[in-house]
Amino acid sequence: MSTPKAFPTATILGYPRIGPGRELKKAVESYWAGIIDESGLQRAAEELQDRTVSRLIELGLGGEDSSIPADFALYDQVLDVTAALGALPTRFADLADQDGSIGTAAYFTLARGDGERAPLELTKWFDSNYHYLVPEIGVATTFTAVAHRLTAIVRRQRERGAVLRPVLVGPVTYLLLAKAEEGAPTGFDPLSRIDDVVSAYEGILASLAEAGAEWVQLDEPGLVSDRGGELAAPGGLVERVYRRLAGHAERPALLVTTGYGTAGNPTAPGQALAVLSAAGVEAVHADLVRGSRPSDEVLQGLGATRLVAGIVDGRNVWRNDLQASLSVLEQLQAGTGATVTTATSTSLLHVPHDVRAETALPEHLPAWLAFADQKVREVVVLAGGLADGRSTVATHLEETEAALQQRARFDGVVVDRVRKRIRDLTAEAFTRGPAERRAEVQQQRLGLPVLPTTTIGSFPQTGEVRSARAAVRNGSISPAEYEQFLRQEIARVVRLQEGLGLDVLVHGEPERNDMVQYFAENFDGFAATDHGWVQSYGSRCTRPSILWGDVSRPQAFTVPWISFAQSLTERPLKGMLTGPVTILAWSFVRDDQPLGDTAHQVALALRDEIADLEAAGIAIVQVDEPALRELLPLRSADHQPYLDWSVQAFRLATAGAGDRTQIHTHLCYSEFGEVISAIDGLDADVTSIEAARSRLEVVADLAGFGYSRGIGPGVYDIHSPRVPSEEELSALIATALEALPAQQLWVNPDCGLKTRGYDETVLSLRNLVAAARTVRESADLTTTGHALAHS
Ligand code: GLN
Ligand code: ZN
Repeated sequence: MSTPKAFPTATILGYPRIGPGRELKKAVESYWAGIIDESGLQRAAEELQDRTVSRLIELGLGGEDSSIPADFALYDQVLDVTAALGALPTRFADLADQDGSIGTAAYFTLARGDGERAPLELTKWFDSNYHYLVPEIGVATTFTAVAHRLTAIVRRQRERGAVLRPVLVGPVTYLLLAKAEEGAPTGFDPLSRIDDVVSAYEGILASLAEAGAEWVQLDEPGLVSDRGGELAAPGGLVERVYRRLAGHAERPALLVTTGYGTAGNPTAPGQALAVLSAAGVEAVHADLVRGSRPSDEVLQGLGATRLVAGIVDGRNVWRNDLQASLSVLEQLQAGTGATVTTATSTSLLHVPHDVRAETALPEHLPAWLAFADQKVREVVVLAGGLADGRSTVATHLEETEAALQQRARFDGVVVDRVRKRIRDLTAEAFTRGPAERRAEVQQQRLGLPVLPTTTIGSFPQTGEVRSARAAVRNGSISPAEYEQFLRQEIARVVRLQEGLGLDVLVHGEPERNDMVQYFAENFDGFAATDHGWVQSYGSRCTRPSILWGDVSRPQAFTVPWISFAQSLTERPLKGMLTGPVTILAWSFVRDDQPLGDTAHQVALALRDEIADLEAAGIAIVQVDEPALRELLPLRSADHQPYLDWSVQAFRLATAGAGDRTQIHTHLCYSEFGEVISAIDGLDADVTSIEAARSRLEVVADLAGFGYSRGIGPGVYDIHSPRVPSEEELSALIATALEALPAQQLWVNPDCGLKTRGYDETVLSLRNLVAAARTVRESADLTTTGHALAHS
C-alpha cells in the first residue's frame, strides 16, 4: 500500500441513516408495498446520501479527506456485510445472482423472509436498542467478495467531490455476532470460518481501493465483550486477522473501531489497541465514554498508528462537557506525542437527527441537548480547540459551560422532596410479606380456578384506535370525545373477555401509544420529542422520551381507566404498569447520576400509582419488565451490580403493595440462564414469560431452579397470526404440568396482543380458554390448586 493520506482530525463513526423526515423508512416501505420500484428506491436512497454528505460538510466535517463515513445500509449494517460476502444460509441459496451478488429484492428477502422461509433472526446490537440481522454460518457457507453497492456509493460520491470512508462491520465481530446455521454439527463455531471470511474481506478492501476509497472503517465492537476481549490478547486471533488484512498490498488504510466499552482485557486498558497497531492497522478507535482510557504505556507505543478518540457520546442526547473533553484529548495527545483525532464513541445511529427540529420541548431543555447534528459540531469544535488552542473556540466553551451550569442548577433536576424520600427509605420498603402467606390471602380474595387464564395487557390496536389518537392530537376531536371513545373501546374489550371466559381481565391499553412514552408523559422529570426518531431495526423507529430531572408522579393516571374497566365486571381486572428498568432502557436517561439512583425514583413514582390502584379496589397489578435482560451489561463482571440495582428498583416499586394485592410481572423472553436468580429476586407473585417458541422447555428449567411462585409460560406466540388449536394448547399445558404443580401455573399468550388483529385474537383466546378448561377437568383440578398440592 502507498503511504495513506493522513487521517482527518475530526470524524464520526456513523450518522443516522433513517433521514430527518424518516425518508429512508418511507422509501423502503413504499418499495415493499410496490408503490415505487427498485430504481425509485435507489433514487430516494441516493438523494438522502447526497443530503447527508452535504449536511456533514456544512457542519464542518471535510469532504475530501475521508472524514465522512459511508454507512448507508438500506436495512441493517450486518445484513450489508452478509450481502457483500454473499454468505447465504442454505434455505436462501437461490437468492444469489450469477456472480454471487445479492440484489435489492434478495436483500430484503433475507430481512423479511418469504412464504415458508423464515427471515434471518433479529437480535439486539450490543447493549443498545438497535437490532441487527443475525448471520447464519455453517461448514459449507461460501464467502465471495461482492461489495457492488458500497463501491458504487464510493464512486458516485467521488464524482460529487467527496472521498467517503466506507464502513463495514469487521470480520471478527461479524463472526462473533453470527450463529451456527441449522444443521451444522453440534458445537460448530462460526468463528472457525475466520480464514475464509478474511480472504473475502481482502477482496472487498481491494475493490474499495479501486473505487477510490483512501480509508476504510472496520467496526469491531465485538472486542468489548468477554469472548471478543480474549481474542484481542497479544498473539491472539485478532492480531492474526489484522496482520493478514494489513499485509495486503491493494487496500485502503484501515481504521478499526471499538465502540460500546473497553476492547480487549478490561484490566489492561488499551492493550487491544496496541495489538491492532502492532498488526499494522493505521488508525485505532477507543470508546472513551463507556470504555476506559488507554494506559500511558499503550499511548506511547502507538507510534505511527493514529488514535481516534471517541469522546462525544454516540448513544445519549446530552450536550458534551467540552472543557472536560478537551482536557482528556490534550492528555491523550501528550501521551501519544502525535495528533489525535476527535470522534464519537459509537455511530450516531442511536440518536435523533437534530435538536432544532424540536419546537415543543420545554424551554429549558434544547440548550442541554445534542442530537446527531449537534454532536458533529461538538466533534469539529473539539478538534479545532485541540489543534489551535482553547482560545480559538472560546465562545463555544463559554456557551457550553453556561448551559451545563444552568442544567446543574435548574429547578426540577434536583427536587428535594424526591431526594428526601429516597434518603429515608429503609429495608422494609423493599420487602413484602412471605410469599406463601401472600398466595393464601390472595387466593381467598380472588377465588380463582386452577390454571387461571389471562392475557398480557394490550388488545389489538386497531386502525380506529390509532386514528382516534391522531384525531385528538390534531384537534379534529375534543379530549372529551376521545375519552368517550376510549371508554367504549375498554367496555368492548371487557365484554369480549367475559364472553371468552377469561378469568383475569385487562382493560386493553387503548390509551397508550407506547408502553414507556405513556409513563414518561405522566411523570415529572421527562420530556417527549416530536421528531426524535431512532432506528430500532430495518424501517422501524422508536421515539425515546428524555428523562432529564428528578422523577415523580404528580397524580394517578392509570387509575381512572383501570377502575372504569373494573366497574364493568365482577371478575378481577389487572392494573397494568411498565417497570422502572424498562422505562429507563427505552428512554434517553440523564447522565449526571448513576442509573440505579434514577431507577429508584421511577420506582417510587410507580409505587404511588400502585398504592392508588389498591385504594381503588384493584386486586391485581402487573408491572412489565421486558427490558430487564436487555440492559444486562456486556461483561459478566458487571452483571451482579446491575442485577442488584435493577431488582431492587422493581422491589421498591412493588413492595408497598399489601399481601392481598397480587403482583404480576411480564418478561418478553425465556432465555433465563444468567438472570434466573434475579427473576426470583423480583419476588412477584406471578411471572408471565415468553415460552411458546421453545415449547415450554423453560418450565422444566424453572422447576429445576426451585421456582415456587406463580408462573405463566406463554402458550402461544403472538408474533404470528397463526391460531393455535385447542389440542395443541392442551398438550402444552399438560407438558407444563409435568414439571410444575398446577397451583403454580397460569395460562396466557406470550406477550401483548396490540400488533394482532381481532379475528385471530378471538379464535386463539377461545382455544386457550377451552384448553385450560379441558386440562382442569381431565386432570380433576376443578377446585383450587391447594387441594392438589397434597395429591
Ligand atoms: N402489557 C404490555 C402489552 O401487553 C406488555 C408488552 C411487552 O411486554 N412488550 O402490550
Ligand atoms: Zn412481552
